[in-house]
Amino acid sequence: MEKLAIRSDWSREEVAQLYRTPLLELIMEAAAIHRLYHKPGEIQTCTLLSIKTGGCPEDCAYCAQSVRYHTGIQVHRLMEVEEVVSAAQKAKEAGATRFCMGAAWREVRSNRDFQKVLDMIRAVRALGLEVCATLGMLTPEQAHALRAAGLTAYNHNLDTSESYYSHIITTRTYQDRLHTLQAAREAGLSLCTGGILGLGESEEDRIDLLHTLATLNPHPESVPINALVPIPGTPLEEREPVSIWDMVRAIATARILMPRAKIRLAAGRERLSFTEQALCFVAGANSIFLGEKLLTTPNSSPSQDRELFSLLGAKEMPAFV
Ligand code: SF4
Repeated sequence: MEKLAIRSDWSREEVAQLYRTPLLELIMEAAAIHRLYHKPGEIQTCTLLSIKTGGCPEDCAYCAQSVRYHTGIQVHRLMEVEEVVSAAQKAKEAGATRFCMGAAWREVRSNRDFQKVLDMIRAVRALGLEVCATLGMLTPEQAHALRAAGLTAYNHNLDTSESYYSHIITTRTYQDRLHTLQAAREAGLSLCTGGILGLGESEEDRIDLLHTLATLNPHPESVPINALVPIPGTPLEEREPVSIWDMVRAIATARILMPRAKIRLAAGRERLSFTEQALCFVAGANSIFLGEKLLTTPNSSPSQDRELFSLLGAKEMPAFV
């Protein structure tokens, strides 16, 4: 197989056809493309820290941190720079090469807090880690300031399709989301943006989401594929877990559409067996979160991940690949 030109002009029909390819064939095609663009034994290891927790005014129906739901989450103000640096150092010692910082904000409002986040970015970057942040909506000026401080990537997930979006979030629009991605891109930041499966969306919605991601030009460098972790107290608390086959199908399709992207097996990984995770890696996933927690939801334990890496002979992808 030869490398083909990277495309951002996928039609909706092409994406739908690819998504509906018989699964075994889809996995094999994704695995072949994966080998062309990535070292197959390398997996990016990221750690995600909640630097400001809870009390978010947004109404994302899946989120433990929205002020609108009774999830029992403890609200914590923005952490101190030293606390964040200490967590980043520990993450590095545990094998992480990317450190992601998440703040439960609709947007960055306080200049004082923003300056503190810029200090965190400078300090974490000085440890030799890639730095990612997720802070809500950004203005172009804020995006430039983040870049100047040394931020590697900005995370802002699209979550689902444009047409299903208002079933999940009513406090902002899909276009707001796309504008922030554009501001981050124009400031020279890498983009980390993906979605969540299991929100109640249809197959058509999943295809639409993948089509939107794959027609961003250039493609996002990181594409997290999350499985909903239903949180008691949120409107989605009763949702059935998404099947492993749906996860694998979405990962494989994303791999083929966006060959250079790091496809991250993100939230929901802790309930997958080693065999199921290995299948996701074969289908093109090559990034995970390390650490006990993803913001406020549980994640696989570090000892389990060490065992998984050893079993698969996988290696951590170096930073800045
Ligand atoms: S997902 Fe983010 S923006 Fe939405 S409620 Fe949670 S913290 Fe707020």
